[in-house]
Amino acid sequence: MNDFDGLTAIVTGGASGIGAATAALLRDRGARVASLDRSYPTAAFDSTAAIFQVPCDVANAGSSAAAVALAAEHLGRLDVLINNAGIGATGDVAANDDDEWLRVLNVNVVGIARITRTALPLLVQSAHASIVNTASVVANVGVGQRALYSASKGAVQSLTLAMAADHVKQGVRVNAVAPGTADTPWVGRLLEQAQDAAAAAAALRARQPMGRLVTADEVAFAIAYLASPLSGSTTGSILAVDGGMSGLRVS
Ligand code: NAD
Repeated sequence: MNDFDGLTAIVTGGASGIGAATAALLRDRGARVASLDRSYPTAAFDSTAAIFQVPCDVANAGSSAAAVALAAEHLGRLDVLINNAGIGATGDVAANDDDEWLRVLNVNVVGIARITRTALPLLVQSAHASIVNTASVVANVGVGQRALYSASKGAVQSLTLAMAADHVKQGVRVNAVAPGTADTPWVGRLLEQAQDAAAAAAALRARQPMGRLVTADEVAFAIAYLASPLSGSTTGSILAVDGGMSGLRVS
């Protein structure tokens, strides 16, 4: 498919996992792509990946605005924004102090507002403007020991709907994906903290009716579906990519 031919995209958190898979897929389908991530030391065009890498901390207003501006200057226009950067948190509602609550919400929720507010004036000029946010299955299913993270992703889901309403008349579509547990470096780090990593991995797989983790490529495909000009009538949708975790009860 070359449905993104002639279009450009920004992917936040594009250096790893779901973001990296999404940046590569959009590129393969014809888009010119800028990946914004806090892990890049300097701005550079990666000629092997054919992706423009821009250092960006979505937790910081100045960094976010500068990164979007630099990416837009390189790309020359902006059609697609993938708000994917996010961080995790574990524990019940009492497990994290105020600083940690604010740190996680700042990245996962306010980060979307920061990046989008700079991108919007560019997006509204596109005939194929589309934003896709990365939410999570935990926005719709109570999962133990994920209070802060779930709160942040519930906010992402609500924000997605509000953004879709606000910008529909400007021709900007806004949707979200809600992945189940996906096999990315993130989950690898989670398992490293477990006392019995093999048992913890088995429990994560068993939690999803398909009995396996979601792949980053499967989430990227869903993101590309929502972002594609071919999905021109789809806005305000939350697409589950969760192996059945949110909707199925299998005995
Ligand atoms: P990952 O850790 O592999 O990748 C996340 C990327 O975001 C990293 O490259 C990291 O450097 C970047 N990032 C983190 N904080 C940032 C910041 N402040 N500014 C800029 N970049 C930042 O994780 P992943 O599993 O690919 O997760 C991507 C998204 O998917 C996150 O929003 C996460 O909440 C969501 N998600 C993941 C899962 C899962 O099971 N892996 C499930 C549901 C939702």
